[in-house]
Amino acid sequence: MTHFKDLTIYTYGAATSSDVGARNIGWLAADIEFQIAVADPAFVERLWRFCRISIGQTRGLHECELCRSSEANSVCLKGEKLLLGSAEIRVLSRKGETYAAPNLVYHYVTAHNYSPPAEFVEAVLSGPSPPDEEYFPGGHFIFPHAWPGQNPPLEVAGRGG
Ligand SMILES: [Zn+2]
Repeated sequence: MTHFKDLTIYTYGAATSSDVGARNIGWLAADIEFQIAVADPAFVERLWRFCRISIGQTRGLHECELCRSSEANSVCLKGEKLLLGSAEIRVLSRKGETYAAPNLVYHYVTAHNYSPPAEFVEAVLSGPSPPDEEYFPGGHFIFPHAWPGQNPPLEVAGRGG
């Protein structure tokens, strides 16, 4: 996967006008050092909610470069399964920041103890999150190329690859 340093300005594939000023989080790659810590279960559970909303879905699956395990792409929490590695997530903070992360960030946090910057953790914990109305004002998500769930219509899924 393409590596971007945490908190740098996001300019990657799914970038749209609504992503202007968004900051990169969790674009890990092999041989890149990162902060580690055991994640707070409350953070993990809330991060999961964001991973339900796929942004910039592509057809291919990125594997985790850290472990190269296919288990990275299929994760389970409380009986619910999600496919990771072919889309991104967006997290909004109360301060107006937007964070753009690959949804593999969930795997990085839970399997590799990746410890994201504190401001991102704070945004995940206290910012608007799916499925709250606040995350979908007026019933619409503010980012294009996004849809709830993991089964996007094919005509939308053709982006990138
Ligand atoms: Zn891994």
